[in-house]
Amino acid sequence: MPLEDAHGRLVSDLRVSVTDRCNFRCRYCMPAEGMPWIPREEILSFEEIERLVRMLVGLGVRDVRLTGGEPLVRREFPALVGRLRAIDGIEDLSLTTNGYLLGAQAADLVAAGIDRVNVSIDSLARGRFFEITRRDALDRVMAGLDAIASFPQVSPVKVNAVPMPGFGRDDVLRFCALARERGFQVRFIEFMPLDGDRSWRSEEVLTGAEVRTMIEEVHPLAERPREPHSTARVFDFADGRGEIGFVNPVSEPFCADCNRLRLTADGKLRTCLFSLHETDLRDPLRAGADDAELGRIVRDAVWRKELKHRIDEPGFRPPARTMSAIGG
Ligand code: SAM
Ligand code: SF4
Repeated sequence: MPLEDAHGRLVSDLRVSVTDRCNFRCRYCMPAEGMPWIPREEILSFEEIERLVRMLVGLGVRDVRLTGGEPLVRREFPALVGRLRAIDGIEDLSLTTNGYLLGAQAADLVAAGIDRVNVSIDSLARGRFFEITRRDALDRVMAGLDAIASFPQVSPVKVNAVPMPGFGRDDVLRFCALARERGFQVRFIEFMPLDGDRSWRSEEVLTGAEVRTMIEEVHPLAERPREPHSTARVFDFADGRGEIGFVNPVSEPFCADCNRLRLTADGKLRTCLFSLHETDLRDPLRAGADDAELGRIVRDAVWRKELKHRIDEPGFRPPARTMSAIGG
């Protein structure tokens, strides 16, 4: 029986956060300093992650994305990729990373069997990149992007950008060049109220439509039909050179056919990015629960999956965890 919620949505996509730690401090995600880390003994081991992912694949999960925090700061991370690759039934095994350690790990990740990689890059201008990530690391991240792109078996390579206030025409055109000249699939993601500083304001969200307007002043775009469960609206450049996409959770929520589930680094199941309630899998697992028992807990949690997020609606409350601790 597939994993289904009370609104008739089938869940088949799992995001696994492997750590809440990070070597960057992006403004829209973490405070400049002072983020409390989850104590190490509370973090799932590779064996525990593998066990839970295998159980979830048995319930119908097909796509698994590894994220964090920054997944590549977790020691021996490629070994986890290898363990998950060996699970029968995973159709797509992917990774989201800030790219800082990708140059060093790309070959090992490919050897371990990663299918796809998304690299987060919020500006292609060094100064602005520093302002947003609080790290002067654009060159190193671009080298990481090149390293992973040199493996044709990892495809597509996507670039995620969160356009923050001040993002202008020059930024947009640099990303268009990356998409058109290098063939990367650039995705602009709207800033969501999951920042560590709790300073999100709807006025600060540069919407996908606004970014699209900036692009279309220079490059006409033609929209592709939306794929089921896709979070992105994808457009081809009208001249046939490259594509670009927009993930618009704030201005155009896509909750109606959401098929996602998240597992935090400390073993909590979250049925929505904005869940106010989590379901613990770690304690039952450590207490010796078998797959049938864990499966019952998961089915029950999925059944109660939130109908939609309520960003910017009256009474909206952000979750206690912020993005780096949830797993984006
Ligand atoms: N550290 C990795 C990275 O940055 O790619 C993986 C984890 S990060 C939390 C995953 C994605 O979430 C990144 O693409 C990041 O840009 C995005 N993200 C983080 N905070 C966000 C926010 N408040 N609103 C929208 N996207 C956010
Ligand atoms: Fe770290 Fe990714 Fe959050 Fe930036 S977005 S602080 S790289 S977890």
